[in-house]
Amino acid sequence: MNVNFTKTKEYYATITDSELCNCSYCRNYRLQIKSALPEVTAYLGSLGIDIEKPFETSPLEPDENGMLEYCGCQYIAFGNCDTEYRHKIGDVEFRIATSYPSTCIEQEHFVLELYPVRLKFV
Ligand SMILES: [Zn+2]
Repeated sequence: MNVNFTKTKEYYATITDSELCNCSYCRNYRLQIKSALPEVTAYLGSLGIDIEKPFETSPLEPDENGMLEYCGCQYIAFGNCDTEYRHKIGDVEFRIATSYPSTCIEQEHFVLELYPVRLKFV
């Protein structure tokens, strides 16, 4: 993986709260993700990615215990990454996303995906 740390960091700094998805599942994610997954937060941070600013999340319905699973959380990173890239922290796996909405970014970038994430739905 070849991440342009500075460019990625700058990109996340330009994303304001009003640009983030305001649905209750995404707000739930942003509220808890740092404290729930500190090691994942640190890993993304080392790439310049702000874990509270996902490009896209794919939440399932909350289960009977009030747990909400996100089966894919996607993040934009500048640079390039080979398709074989895999990483794992605890139960969370990282890979290159192959399916995502248009990023509207013309510079070299890729979309990193991590899954699964389970959080309490509050
Ligand atoms: Zn949302």
